[in-house]
Amino acid sequence: MAAAEGTPKYRGRFAPSPTGPLHFGSLVAAVASYVDARAHGGEWLVRMEDVDVPRCVPGADADILRTLEAFGFEWDGPVMYQSTRTGAYGEALDRLRRDGMAYPCSCSRREAGTGVYPGTCRARMQDPLRPPAWRVRVDDAVIALEDRRAGAIRQNLAREVGDFVVLRADGLFAYQLAVVVDDAAQGITDVVRGADLLDSTPRQIWLQQLLGFATPEYLHVPVATNPAGEKLSKQTLAPRLIAADAGKELCSALRFLGMPVPADASLSAPEILRSEILRSENLRKAARGPDATSAKLLI
Ligand code: GLU
Repeated sequence: MAAAEGTPKYRGRFAPSPTGPLHFGSLVAAVASYVDARAHGGEWLVRMEDVDVPRCVPGADADILRTLEAFGFEWDGPVMYQSTRTGAYGEALDRLRRDGMAYPCSCSRREAGTGVYPGTCRARMQDPLRPPAWRVRVDDAVIALEDRRAGAIRQNLAREVGDFVVLRADGLFAYQLAVVVDDAAQGITDVVRGADLLDSTPRQIWLQQLLGFATPEYLHVPVATNPAGEKLSKQTLAPRLIAADAGKELCSALRFLGMPVPADASLSAPEILRSEILRSENLRKAARGPDATSAKLLI
């Protein structure tokens, strides 16, 4: 956790979901978080986000770790697995319940709708016989953050999101709760990840506030897309990373992020990741975006 005095030492993380092998999109998030952590003289942790068990693929975690190793990533401490953390998530939910901030909800997906949850079960669960999900209450107030790349972000959770699910009706904890509990437990000071999660950040800050956790700094980097403009993912059939192409792929990821690339083309992937050029002030500037306008366009 945070140092007893002064600013806590930088601690970042890469948190892949083991739903398949790493692809260029996940490499971008790994490189951005790794290089930012090292440029700040900080630590870099790996967390397997296997909280959504049915979506996870057996063996994908080991495959991801092997690929990270082949690309030269070195992580600090043991890899945390969310599947081992249900006790901690349950304690967090108990606290929300004790504080009157969480309530059971029997709405089906269709009843809850895809937009802002209208609070149907807020006062009373509609169908007490159905196994409930648990939702956290949100306020009609703005959550504000200063993202290191996107700048000022404001979201009114009541108007734009509604009370959101922290424990699903199938008994699985939701990503939003798990990520907040784990970032706090691991003492993460800086979250560097894809801009597709920018929209989730106000919900996470809200949970941090309710649970009494510190809010980390956030840096959301652009998301890599395929020629059709879709985010690279298992669903969009993004090709897996091949260790033999590690150097080339790393350089592409660095260029994608607007970071400097070592001039020496003969360097191996681990040498590229360890190169001095990625430890300089340059990098911090690159990670922050060339300037506010183009940074917005990139996201
Ligand atoms: N597990 C999430 C993903 O793979 C990342 C979550 C995060 O970085 O907060 O997209």
